[in-house]
Amino acid sequence: MRTVKGHSDHVVVVGAGLAGLSTAIHLAGRGRSVTVVERDAVPGGRMGRLDVNGYRIDTGPTVLTMPAVLEEVFAAVGERMADRLELLPVDPAYHARFADGRTLEVHSDEDRMVRAVTDFAGAGQAEGYRRLRHWLSRLYETEFDRFVAANFDSPLSMSIPALAGLTALGGFRRWDRKVGEFITDPMLRRVFTFQSLYAGVAPEQALAAYAVIAHMDTMSGVSFPRGGMRAVPDALAAAAETAGVRLRYGSTVTELERTGGRVVAVHTDQGERIACDAVVLTTELHRTYELLAHRSRRPVAVRPAPSAVVLHVACAQETRIPHHSLLFGHAWHAAFREIIDEGKVMTDPSLLVTRPTASDPGLAPAGRDLLYVLAPVPNLARGQIDWDRVGADYAGEVLELARGRLGVELREAEVLRVVTPADWARQDMAAGSPFALAHTFAQTGPFRPANMIRGLDNVVLAGGSTVPGVGIPPVLISGRLAADRVTGHRQRKTSAVGAGSPVVRVS
Ligand SMILES: Cc1cc2nc3c(=O)[nH]c(=O)nc-3n(C[C@H](O)[C@H](O)[C@H](O)COP(=O)(O)OP(=O)(O)OC[C@H]3O[C@@H](n4cnc5c(N)ncnc54)[C@H](O)[C@@H]3O)c2cc1C
Repeated sequence: MRTVKGHSDHVVVVGAGLAGLSTAIHLAGRGRSVTVVERDAVPGGRMGRLDVNGYRIDTGPTVLTMPAVLEEVFAAVGERMADRLELLPVDPAYHARFADGRTLEVHSDEDRMVRAVTDFAGAGQAEGYRRLRHWLSRLYETEFDRFVAANFDSPLSMSIPALAGLTALGGFRRWDRKVGEFITDPMLRRVFTFQSLYAGVAPEQALAAYAVIAHMDTMSGVSFPRGGMRAVPDALAAAAETAGVRLRYGSTVTELERTGGRVVAVHTDQGERIACDAVVLTTELHRTYELLAHRSRRPVAVRPAPSAVVLHVACAQETRIPHHSLLFGHAWHAAFREIIDEGKVMTDPSLLVTRPTASDPGLAPAGRDLLYVLAPVPNLARGQIDWDRVGADYAGEVLELARGRLGVELREAEVLRVVTPADWARQDMAAGSPFALAHTFAQTGPFRPANMIRGLDNVVLAGGSTVPGVGIPPVLISGRLAADRVTGHRQRKTSAVGAGSPVVRVS
């Protein structure tokens, strides 16, 4: 595995999002001196926060899966996640509502889910669900360590037996077709394929290998941190500081000082020059390349993922709304086509509605609820929509639709904030998409922009634009992969807590 050349005693990490915090913690655990430089005043990046009139809003992710990946980050400095973070189980993980009025609760527990599927679609589909579950488990076991959580120097460095195993499981076929081998009910199938939108690709186009997201989502359990999603970066930042990482907020990196193929210092808009032995960049790909004056050699431009409009709504408490509701429209394949290929908003939208106050009522004033409504929309590269002009009207339509599909009145509803692709673009996100690069075949695994760049000896990338990809577990893993590029791959053996010192002994 390729690693940075020369000394790597002091590493500067650019960005205190999840990828940057994970990188910093893994490096601190391996005895490196680490400085994190973050332009915002708080950690979290896209796992963002907003406080409005007593409402504690999460502006980014709402679905937290695979807590074991998060636990591994804390363990890198000898900590226990439970000492920093309280994760509440979200059960059912989702409440799916279909346009024909049918509903299904999605449970991670097999027997409860089998019962739910039997009631929803009959014993035959429930038997198919059991087989699907088995296949998803095998897919996960085959992929996770060898593809998702591994560094590749080139496609040739992939393990041939592992590739053969993935091929045998149908990982290079299409997600929708593969799930169709187990489940024929078209509505039920959506519950195990809609996650392809997280990958930025329609289910009939996405690689079946990405069905591993359905494993995370529907089988490994969904949790919610007490205090809101912001509790995650806050806990990680606290663990990093305890381990001796220096966090500099309110500092934008404006320049990387180079000597040949080495970055020797990072300059900030605060007039600081921070000398470094190595640098890890978690910025968006276009900004990373600009800072490095690097020109991509890819024959085809990278493809951004679709975007989203997000509404933050306050209303009188409505306990009938579950934590996560998937509100499916009648249209399905056409809806993906509209946002991904045609650059139009969905004629018959499907929505994700989250009521975080279902798990933690403390996020809203007494007697009130907080709702987060997400509508997938085209990114700015694909669609020609003037969001500053039409955003408010579109938000109104989406809210009406959510109200109708949830079947509740939403008394005293008040829109606290609407975020559109134009707003994501103002936060420097390419093509106004908060989901970075789509996970097309050409942007997957060793074909995704790599976390090291030829010709640069001590620069490593992490975060959603590089490997393994977008989402909370992948970007946390990208931090560990970046640390491996700095120190070489290490097996954690024993751990001991200690402030300001390397706390994990490694082989
Ligand atoms: C609306 C939305 C919904 C989502 N839903 C989910 C979900 O439910 N589940 C899930 O798993 N994932 C979800 N995601 C995806 C997930 O949040 C992201 O993939 C992940 O948080 C990205 O982390 P990151 O560290 O790669 O990037 P970022 O969070 O963007 O971190 C990069 C950091 O670098 C800083 N920075 C940038 N430029 C500079 C500079 N020049 N100098 C200093 N600092 C700089 C930024 O301020 C930022 O803090 C969602 C994202 C969004 C936005």
